[in-house]
Amino acid sequence: MSFQPPKGTDDIGAPQSSVWRSVLGEWEEWSARFGYPLVMNPIFEATELFQRGVGDTNEVVTKQMYTFTDRGGRSVTLRPEGTAGVVRAFLASGSLGAWKGAYSGPMFRYERPQGGRRRQFWQVGVEYLDVEAPPSDVEVIELGYRYLGAVGVPGLEVRLNSLGDGVCRPGYVEELRSFLRSRYEELCEESKPLVDTNPLRVLDCKICAPKLKDAPAMADRLCDDCSAHFKEVKETLTRLDVPFVEDHRLVRGLDYYTRTAFEYIARELETAQNAVGGGGRYDGLAEALGGRRTPGVGFALGVDRIILATGREPRSEVDVFVVSEVPAADALVAASRLRREGIRVDFDSEGRSIKTQFRAASRSGAPVTVVLRSLDEPVDVRTQDGLRVGVPLGELADWLKARSG
Ligand code: AMP
Repeated sequence: MSFQPPKGTDDIGAPQSSVWRSVLGEWEEWSARFGYPLVMNPIFEATELFQRGVGDTNEVVTKQMYTFTDRGGRSVTLRPEGTAGVVRAFLASGSLGAWKGAYSGPMFRYERPQGGRRRQFWQVGVEYLDVEAPPSDVEVIELGYRYLGAVGVPGLEVRLNSLGDGVCRPGYVEELRSFLRSRYEELCEESKPLVDTNPLRVLDCKICAPKLKDAPAMADRLCDDCSAHFKEVKETLTRLDVPFVEDHRLVRGLDYYTRTAFEYIARELETAQNAVGGGGRYDGLAEALGGRRTPGVGFALGVDRIILATGREPRSEVDVFVVSEVPAADALVAASRLRREGIRVDFDSEGRSIKTQFRAASRSGAPVTVVLRSLDEPVDVRTQDGLRVGVPLGELADWLKARSG
């Protein structure tokens, strides 16, 4: 059999996994800082959840889902995104009132794989439910912006739009449809049928959008409530020093997306993969799932793309490698003492030759190697920058902390 991972998936181990550990660790830190507790949902759900929650005209649902019949005859699907599952779980819990959750995990879409477009990819995201006021939209946008900035996404840009609501959007959609009919011959073959079924999505088409710069914009047709909401979102973002660019072609094709829509762009990535995340308000989603009205806002960020964008270098996750002249079990005793003091330690459990152990030490990338001659004698400490010094084992943890602190 082949040992390659399935097409569009990756095996990620050391040293590259150290980048993942730090980027995901910083997500835990930032999401907690904004008051979002961890939420964990099933990785597979009833297929119907995504048909309703992502929409059965969306190509994620029509072409990209990993759907199968389980042994009990139920149609289940590996989640292609996180929001539908979180909203389902919220409805199942019967909770009332403002609710927050942050998730982190793999998503699955049958796509044509390329760099930054995988069949199994990792998203982190938040959902903020049963809230309607503009500060909730702004808090969510700010969290994504601060986190992406902290992990070092270069050329980070927030693009922002408002999609209106059930009051103002239907009239706008009709106006857009008439406009698109007048330009029908210029549209690409994929967009033509959308003029009838879902004209908003034509604005999203990479081929057609540049030719439609004079299309009517939703942001100019908002009703008073949506307009006031959008205004407050923009003013508050400015007060928080979160820069944004208004983008009137940023749309979501489904009716339950309302008002705020946004994307995070890494301007320095190739255009096809430069969206590192996106989100918005979805006041109609819970009802589309058959639940009570539950307005909400959230985003999802693609960690594979964040890592591509930041170009972070892998780092050793070992502080100290113990090279031992005494039996390997003694080396483990020494390693264990240091580990209990919070030092990250590795050693050679096979008790191989000193030369082999030094090679392993160097491969580990540990900034410090210690040579153990006995558990009672000072160890011989060697640092990457050439320092050599004897330190009693019992004092080594403090010595290392003082040096790195
Ligand atoms: P979406 O759920 O489609 O709005 O995507 C949100 C973010 O997830 C995107 O901006 C990407 O960063 C990431 N993403 C979506 N699909 C993929 C994929 N197939 N491979 C890698 N990242 C993806």
